[in-house]
Amino acid sequence: MKKIFLVGIGPGKQHQMTLEALEAIKQSDTICGYTVYVDIIKELCEGKNIISTGMKNEEERCKLALDEANKGHIVSMICSGDAGIYGMSGLIYSMSNKYPDVEICSIPGITAAISGASVLGAPLMNDFCIISLSDLLTPWEIIEKRVKAAAQGDMAMVIYNPASKKRTEHLCKACEIVLKYASPDTVCGWVKNIGRDGQQKHICTLEQLKDEKVDMFTTVFIGNSYTRNINGKMVCVRGYHSEK
Ligand code: SAH
Repeated sequence: MKKIFLVGIGPGKQHQMTLEALEAIKQSDTICGYTVYVDIIKELCEGKNIISTGMKNEEERCKLALDEANKGHIVSMICSGDAGIYGMSGLIYSMSNKYPDVEICSIPGITAAISGASVLGAPLMNDFCIISLSDLLTPWEIIEKRVKAAAQGDMAMVIYNPASKKRTEHLCKACEIVLKYASPDTVCGWVKNIGRDGQQKHICTLEQLKDEKVDMFTTVFIGNSYTRNINGKMVCVRGYHSEK
């Protein structure tokens, strides 16, 4: 069988993986993914062929996975969270026309927005958007435009890739854009290492978020005008209480 599963393994350890993801991994004889994620599921990989590459080699990793599937293997390409959200799915589908006999099957996973929201409370009760601050694949001017549009629409935002070792100013710049449209007291928060060892959370105001030191293992939540801090939980109350 020539098959590749695009498997979202959820944010953390196995407890946040779906049964369907578990089943796909069990069925596969080859597991492919970024070294850190392969390590997270290593007990499930015993006896399987492992293809793991570093962070930057995404195209190479996808080609290797498709080549293996094309040889007749069942391959699981694993990604954290969901494979179709800043994961490998798009690349695999883009390259798939060269592999017409390989069946591709997407298995959804719990993305960081959803798992992080549960840690903080209920910040995504109404309309929200997800924006990545990484300008590796999207020009910074477009990211700024999206942050501005979301703020103008009073939309709650989930920020992925808020910083990297080299890129430390982006969250501050994004907050400055939002501050033009939202109150400095807007309730915000972040969660680091969701579902993994060392999980940490923090709730603060938009003004304070500007100076928070976050890293690439952190997901940031910017509330809207209906977001409240209720006993230390970040909650969007829109839909139930209209008082502002
Ligand atoms: N496919 C992943 C997203 C990959 S982009 C998903 O659906 O969740 C990488 C970004 O996702 C990180 O910079 C961080 O902002 C967020 N992220 C992914 N896993 C996380 C985790 N366990 N804890 C905190 N943030 C996480």
